Amino acid sequence: MTHEEQVKRMTDMIAKFVGFTGKKLPDDVIAKLTELREKETEAMPKVIYDTMFRNQELAVKLDRPSCQDTGVLQFWVKCGTKFPLIDDLEALLKEAVVKATFETPLRHNSVETFDEYNTGKNVGKGTPTVWWDIVPHSDKCEIYTYMAGGGCTLPGCATVLMPGEGYEGVTKFVMDRMTSYGLNACPPLLVGVGVATSVETAALLSKKALMRPIGSHNENERAAKMEKLLEDGINAIGLGPQGMGGKYSVMGVNIENTARHPSAIGVAVNVGCWSHRRGHIIFDADLNYEITTHTGVEL
Ligand code: SF4
Repeated sequence: MTHEEQVKRMTDMIAKFVGFTGKKLPDDVIAKLTELREKETEAMPKVIYDTMFRNQELAVKLDRPSCQDTGVLQFWVKCGTKFPLIDDLEALLKEAVVKATFETPLRHNSVETFDEYNTGKNVGKGTPTVWWDIVPHSDKCEIYTYMAGGGCTLPGCATVLMPGEGYEGVTKFVMDRMTSYGLNACPPLLVGVGVATSVETAALLSKKALMRPIGSHNENERAAKMEKLLEDGINAIGLGPQGMGGKYSVMGVNIENTARHPSAIGVAVNVGCWSHRRGHIIFDADLNYEITTHTGVEL
């Protein structure tokens, strides 16, 4: 393949993968929703979970997005410095979003700020969002795709606490948000928490935490314990699926952290909804790919 053919091939694959993720949830999300349905004892939450599964069946059968809000596309890219298409990647992702918008189709969710018009293509100034992690000495490219709806992970919340507020302050900050509007997303939620040195590092980590598989834990034992305690605390609110009541409010709580300045604790919370449309694909230098989030996808 020539370089141009490679760019086109990768654009087509990303467009197809993005469209696919809008119609079929990742395997870990389906497994968790199935588990939560089994654990609920009342009729109402069970009926709501059954509706979600029916929604998933119909989305694939009718070849339509499973939720009307297909979000703003956000990509987390971990790209090796030796990946052959590194220079083309950002433009290629933008092009893939335009293609997916018309082919899938996706709702038009990119409004130019201040000029107040919808581009109609899901791309605009700074959209789709692309975050970069550069990986030295690697020729691979790992991409997390994410559809961030208006209720899920766009209205997160972040602050910097005084050091004396400690981990109790972190817990209070998270629980205060979860007991107000759950940040507007449709439960059961996947809750991302960032604990770091500043407002923006915490905010970014709270989003990155949502890329982690459901059921995974922070590698630090204490942080992992806090994930479990927060999960139990948020479940005890009794939101249930779609906020209609139930024993479980969340699919999990994922905390990501960095070291921090001794006089500050940055904390942020960000929630994914039950329709957690995240995809993960890894390309090698020849554009062979591996998809870790969904089984049985051919691009
Ligand atoms: S929160 Fe999620 S499921 Fe609910 S409307 Fe938004 S994108 Fe759809």
